[in-house]
Amino acid sequence: MSKFPVPDNSCEFFDQEHESMTREQIEALQVERLKETIARCMKNPIYKQRFEEAGITPDSITSVADVRKLPFTTKQDLRENYPFGLACVPLKECVRLHSSSGTTGNPTVILHTQNDLDEWANQVARNLWMVGLRPDDVFQNSSGYGMFTGGLGFQYGAERLGMLTVPAAAGNSLRQIKFIRDFGTTALHAVPSYVTRLYEVMQEQGVDPRKDTQLKVLAIGAEPHSEEQRKRIENMLGVKAYNSFGMSEMCGPGVGFECKEQNGLHFWEDYYIVEIVDPETLEPVPDGEIGELILTSICREAMPLIRYRTRDLTRVLGRTCPCGRNHIRIDRMRGRSDDMIVLRGVNIFPIQIEKILMQFPELASNYLITLTSDADNDNMLVEVELEELFTDDFPRLLDLEKRIRRALKDEILLTPHIKLVPKGTLPVSEGKAVRVVDKRKVYQ
Ligand code: AMP
Ligand code: ZN
Repeated sequence: MSKFPVPDNSCEFFDQEHESMTREQIEALQVERLKETIARCMKNPIYKQRFEEAGITPDSITSVADVRKLPFTTKQDLRENYPFGLACVPLKECVRLHSSSGTTGNPTVILHTQNDLDEWANQVARNLWMVGLRPDDVFQNSSGYGMFTGGLGFQYGAERLGMLTVPAAAGNSLRQIKFIRDFGTTALHAVPSYVTRLYEVMQEQGVDPRKDTQLKVLAIGAEPHSEEQRKRIENMLGVKAYNSFGMSEMCGPGVGFECKEQNGLHFWEDYYIVEIVDPETLEPVPDGEIGELILTSICREAMPLIRYRTRDLTRVLGRTCPCGRNHIRIDRMRGRSDDMIVLRGVNIFPIQIEKILMQFPELASNYLITLTSDADNDNMLVEVELEELFTDDFPRLLDLEKRIRRALKDEILLTPHIKLVPKGTLPVSEGKAVRVVDKRKVYQ
């Protein structure tokens, strides 16, 4: 691989060689890289033992489907082998680590060699180039820096592309808006829940993003969001908003990104082998069916992960695209299996509720789902902010509540309590939004 692709401005591809591969070329490269990855993993005693038990050597792989011979890796494996137990190179060859907070038990650690960081930057640059950004753009990264990979991941990727990069970090909306205006920001990355907050502050300040800023492209990701939420963001700011998928275990942002067609996320198959399996049986599901996303990193040195169970639920949309890239297209995430709400025997993902709420123009974008239990039942309360303040117009409020309840019932088969609150009332986090508070856990 050319380590630092340098495309000319008129080229649609950042890394033409890899982005425009045919399916046969992708699969041949995947087989080659998977064999190399297995050989690298065998330097680690834990992987070595697992592969020996399963009778696996690099030569066991002759086709991409052979990946199924390999054992799965889980977050639990990362926790049990905290911090460096799954390293496949000596620590002296590593130049950075990212760690995720451990709310339950040990945190997880992901190590990177210099080459891993270079490839990660290439991936992010590829994504940003794909949606039309070029070196004369100004890129503002309004995402947390530090251990959260959205900060440094986008920083290095945007620099690799050659844009003027503004490491604004998360929060402080007034300063964000000042930067956007003063520096002529044309592209911005943030979590979607924060983008909607930023827009509200613009409104409060009398800033019209269409007239007073040069924003044209947004990268939004790191948390589940609905198509309706994306459309809102596009309409509010007058931009194109592209879905960006990443996870620290694979590197961070850069794993999957939408092209200009906005018809699913291209997951980069020169870097990952993608599988969708039934989370119960762990058998592959047919294209189009929802299952758990399984990723094998095939281009990483420090800590490749084999058949990593992401817990994210999604489906394959296709393997070709009018944009000319044949890298697999994956649907936006439905949520993580761990985020699924089970209420009175019904399975619900917060994003289903978001999708309905966002269809009501009377509602703003922030909402909070609270689950409680009393002696007889589990209950769901959906608090949602109103776009305009009409809290003293009771007939209108009651009618709106009734319509929301009915629409939610059709989607989730349950009737939650609805509370309409003024804009700015519900908490906004600088990082990933907290959409569900489960107070039932107290009683368990
Ligand atoms: P982290 O490694 O802490 O950044 O978290 C990675 C997780 O964030 C993924 O496994 C997904 O659950 C979630 N995530 C990241 N990007 C997206 C996205 N575009 N849409 C939905 N969920 C996402
Ligand atoms: Zn495409």
